[in-house]
Amino acid sequence: MRIVLLGAPGSGKGTQARQLVEHFGVVQISTGDLLRQAVADNTELGQKAKKAMDNGELVSDDIVLSMIKDRLQQPDTDNGVILDGFPRNLAQAKALEELMADIKCPLDAAVLLDVPLDSLMQRLTGRLTCQDCGAVFNKYTNPPRKDGICDECGGKLIQRGDDNETTVRQRLETFTEQTEPLIDFYKKQNKLISIDGTQDIDTISAEFKDVLKRFG
Ligand code: AMP
Repeated sequence: MRIVLLGAPGSGKGTQARQLVEHFGVVQISTGDLLRQAVADNTELGQKAKKAMDNGELVSDDIVLSMIKDRLQQPDTDNGVILDGFPRNLAQAKALEELMADIKCPLDAAVLLDVPLDSLMQRLTGRLTCQDCGAVFNKYTNPPRKDGICDECGGKLIQRGDDNETTVRQRLETFTEQTEPLIDFYKKQNKLISIDGTQDIDTISAEFKDVLKRFG
């Protein structure tokens, strides 16, 4: 299974990807997670990426493509991959097509998690992420049982630096300008599957499993 998860920041891509990993035994590749790790490790790549991330803009294609190329060559991807947050613009989508043609594993589908943008500000500014297992909660709509502590693993919940109002506004604008055109790109290739991302998490998850089982 080779799937792209498309959706605005805060649409729930990460949450769904983590469930699909468990269900189908594939790996999740999140360019956002890889970049945050590079920033935390203060690598050269992380230093180059940090400013764009803090501003809610896209990190340059060079950086992201070299990172994804390396990651896709690792043996744990043999069972299949869920790409979460990549591609983010047309240049990246075209580069991905070439990469997959090279390894003779074309993309099966692009799944759009469709959520109206005006509902995302609260989702993002209230988002709390577990620094250990990546589980996602929300201060307003899905609070953890114990303040600041992950229900799933007991890890510490943190608010991402870019989940503040100013950066969120820019990230949503970046999505509209650069990522939204990918919906048409994949529609034209008959690879687009759309799921209503305003439904509750379990319903979305069941729909995902149902539409993806034919690629499993
Ligand atoms: P995410 O966790 O997917 O919301 O990504 C957080 C930030 O990382 C984004 O706002 C971008 O600055 C950067 N980023 C993640 N994925 C990409 C990508 N495919 N291309 C460029 N920048 C990215």
